[in-house]
Amino acid sequence: MNRQVTADQNFIRRVNTRTVMDRIRLDAPLSRAEVSARTGLNRSTVSSIVSELMDQGYIKETTLQDPKIGRPGMLLQFNPAGGCAVGIELGVEFISIILTNFVAEVIWRKRILLSEDTNQFQIVEYAETLINEAIMTGKEQGLSLLGIGVGVPGLVDQSQGKLIFAPNLKMNNMPLRLMWTQRFNTPVFVENEANSAALGEYFFGSAHDKTDFIYMSTGAGLGGGIMIGGQLFKGSTGYAGEIGHTTIYAGGDSCGCGSNGCWETYVGPRAIIRRIRRTIDGGAESIISDMVGGDMQKITVDVLVAAADQKDTVTLTALHEVGIDLGVGISNLINIFNPELVVMGGALSLASPWLLTAIREALQLRVLAPMLEKVNVIPSSLGLDSCVMGAVAMVLDDVVREPLFSLY
Ligand SMILES: [Zn+2]
Repeated sequence: MNRQVTADQNFIRRVNTRTVMDRIRLDAPLSRAEVSARTGLNRSTVSSIVSELMDQGYIKETTLQDPKIGRPGMLLQFNPAGGCAVGIELGVEFISIILTNFVAEVIWRKRILLSEDTNQFQIVEYAETLINEAIMTGKEQGLSLLGIGVGVPGLVDQSQGKLIFAPNLKMNNMPLRLMWTQRFNTPVFVENEANSAALGEYFFGSAHDKTDFIYMSTGAGLGGGIMIGGQLFKGSTGYAGEIGHTTIYAGGDSCGCGSNGCWETYVGPRAIIRRIRRTIDGGAESIISDMVGGDMQKITVDVLVAAADQKDTVTLTALHEVGIDLGVGISNLINIFNPELVVMGGALSLASPWLLTAIREALQLRVLAPMLEKVNVIPSSLGLDSCVMGAVAMVLDDVVREPLFSLY
């Protein structure tokens, strides 16, 4: 009987602690009295939870002027020195890593490029070296490591934190969570890259506080992170959001997944570059030929953005055509999910000024009017950092949810 009472008390304490943490995260700086008023918890409960959270170093007092009472008071806020989090993205031909403090301020970052023939074991090795470097940097600053978040462009088995299949990364069956939890002795969170990026946009970027939105990750592939009611939509086995492999042209070009006519083969940077090359090969004049010294292999997103900036007709036409194909697929998503926002992230966000006009043209024709009025398509505000920031968010959010877990 006593054990039952204790279990209930512990459960209530955990829920109350989470409530206090969440309130401070959203509304800080706050006085204890305000935390009490806004959570409905009594003052002594708030005081005792706050003192435990301060002992753990997650929150701290500041003597800011309290505008509501007009005199200096002890206000509570998250403590930047509460710990550090590592966010890492294993991308196609790159690894990006950041280290942040407890309020998600970036204190160190690195991005390395990988050659096309790097195998999955080498990728893991490079990643581990970078993670070590991040952890050492945190240590030098006196920050304890709270965890590692990982974004990967493939299917992730959530129950095991295992990368199952990543065709663009030539990676499969990599038990990242198990490997890195043991190696670095810290919590490890593994998520599909687009899902991680959606979390990044939700906590820190374009979709801040939007509960219903779709994040599109454009790069070598096309991934989707679908946020419904403030929760990532995972599907029955955790693989939902593979928007790049929805069919846009039945019987169309073949795709890396083994099917054909997939949306991602028509709308990524590679598709734009392919169109530009085809037009130039057909005899059209373009400043791109000079920009890459005649070597068409050298066309990158940066090059095509620079060419579009100079109003190069071949480039503008390719961007418009790809923008229409993007818009057709986005219309399907809007008609299915009725989101408030579609965030375009990844490499193509750099070309968004030109793509968005064509996308909106396609939306006008295809999205049902009452939904079209309410939806916005915008570029990501985090740029190429959406995924790593989301990876950090997974670590920090876990601490916010269970800040005193070890005490129970
Ligand atoms: Zn496909």
